Amino acid sequence: MTSLPVLPLGPGAARGRPAMPPRHLADLDLAGRQALVAELGEPAFRARQLSTHYFGRLVRDPAQMTDLPAATRARLAESLMPDLLTAVRELACDDGATRKALWRLHDGALVESVLMGYPDRVTVCISSQAGCGMACPFCATGQAGLTRNLSTAEIVDQAVYLAGVAASGVVAGSPPRLSHVVFMGMGEPLANYTRVIDAVRRLCAPAPEGLGLSQRHITISTVGLVPAMRRLAAEELSVTLALSLHAPDDELRDELVPVNQRWKVAEVLDAAWDYASRTGRRVSIEYAMIRDVNDQPWRADLLGRLLAGRLAHVNLIPLNPTPGSRWDASPKPVEREFVRRLREAGVSTTVRDTRGREIDGACGQLAASETGSADGR
Ligand code: SAH
Repeated sequence: MTSLPVLPLGPGAARGRPAMPPRHLADLDLAGRQALVAELGEPAFRARQLSTHYFGRLVRDPAQMTDLPAATRARLAESLMPDLLTAVRELACDDGATRKALWRLHDGALVESVLMGYPDRVTVCISSQAGCGMACPFCATGQAGLTRNLSTAEIVDQAVYLAGVAASGVVAGSPPRLSHVVFMGMGEPLANYTRVIDAVRRLCAPAPEGLGLSQRHITISTVGLVPAMRRLAAEELSVTLALSLHAPDDELRDELVPVNQRWKVAEVLDAAWDYASRTGRRVSIEYAMIRDVNDQPWRADLLGRLLAGRLAHVNLIPLNPTPGSRWDASPKPVEREFVRRLREAGVSTTVRDTRGREIDGACGQLAASETGSADGR
């Protein structure tokens, strides 16, 4: 037997299986939390008290949990509510109506979330993975590759934290209550399927088990992982499915969304229509408008033919160019013609607002710029 040199294992030195964060109450349903509290030798009702602080009152500081005996407060909070997210940067724009947070996770991985306040609702856009393995060439996160899946609680905690920001009243002109969550931050949600579905259940369970959001106000966005889309359709959830299509033809989609090499446009749309018919929910078709790449009138017509008569809505996203990219957003007249043709084909179409551009608001750009500056680039 040969002896191997002993390597010092500092943080991050153990490659292979990435280290998941410590367990948090948001990883568990209420029964699971009660069992855990009992294991710690405390009465089971403490689980409900802690959950009420975290999900109901958006309180995470043990000092504020005055209904718990001072002696056990810190110990319970340490066991059930470890800090998962450390804010590295928090930026605001649009007069404070858009706020972006960059978080460092326990292992140093960076993820981001965005809060968007509107007159009638507050939406947060959250990450499901650190990085992403889907390699879409126009997306900043796609360039960096996948670091790891987020835990259920790391996903939920982004929304709970930003719900607390909204509740503090800083988002002027918006209701104080978080109402909508979109899985359009970093990562491919359906590639972290079980944790994302658990996170949806936590976000939608009534307080104190969860945050009490409506399933209809949750959107899961996917590159089109067909088996996971079909599995989602069978969950009997009424969340909105968004499909990042970006091209109506396989030749171009193979390049823009590389997973298309595995599941073609026809298959992915089939799975989308299956989702629509099983849930009765309109599928949102995401389409980034990229100048001279996917914005030709003939592609609008082809897309119109694929979607006409279906339970679908097209959401055109002006491309947010990533640093160093050869691609740019489509000119406005080209975009208007694209919209006109889709509507003429009877397809409901809107153009997404471009919130948060000046704070690297979209698609992994904040994390990319942080990594870039850390590297001295
Ligand atoms: N992985 C999931 C969710 C994350 S991205 C998905 O692909 O759907 C959310 C949306 O932003 C997707 O439609 C994605 O294609 C789009 N997107 C990514 N980078 C973009 C960019 N630079 N400009 C415009 N939209 C972008």
